[in-house]
Amino acid sequence: MGQEERRAGSGGIYVIQEHHAARLHWDLRLEMDGVLKSWAVPKEPPREKGVKRLCIQTEDHPLEYADFGEIPEGRYGAGIVKTWDRGTFRLEDRKPDKLVFDIRGEKLKGRYVLLRFKKAGEGNWLFFRT
Ligand code: MN
Repeated sequence: MGQEERRAGSGGIYVIQEHHAARLHWDLRLEMDGVLKSWAVPKEPPREKGVKRLCIQTEDHPLEYADFGEIPEGRYGAGIVKTWDRGTFRLEDRKPDKLVFDIRGEKLKGRYVLLRFKKAGEGNWLFFRT
């Protein structure tokens, strides 16, 4: 990924972390606007078409979080964080309520959509392969 492409905001780091917190979940993180936009996915992220996962947008994280290992006891979100998948993504479309992007990871490959799920509340999105 060249500097020009990064600056254009057309893609960047893609990582999903398996987070063994009080409740196991997966943290999807995409490099956008100089930070990692983040979504918590309560079930394993979908590799196949036809599987839709509800996810909850969480706070932006600094880019260094892509390499994060473990959150210490006593801190919010304490628990082991494993890299579940990692690679790059290329943004195809970006609207306030819809992101379309091409994931180039080890586990997830292909075109994915994040769609804000309005009826369920502000922070709720659907994540699926298309
Ligand atoms: Mn988490």
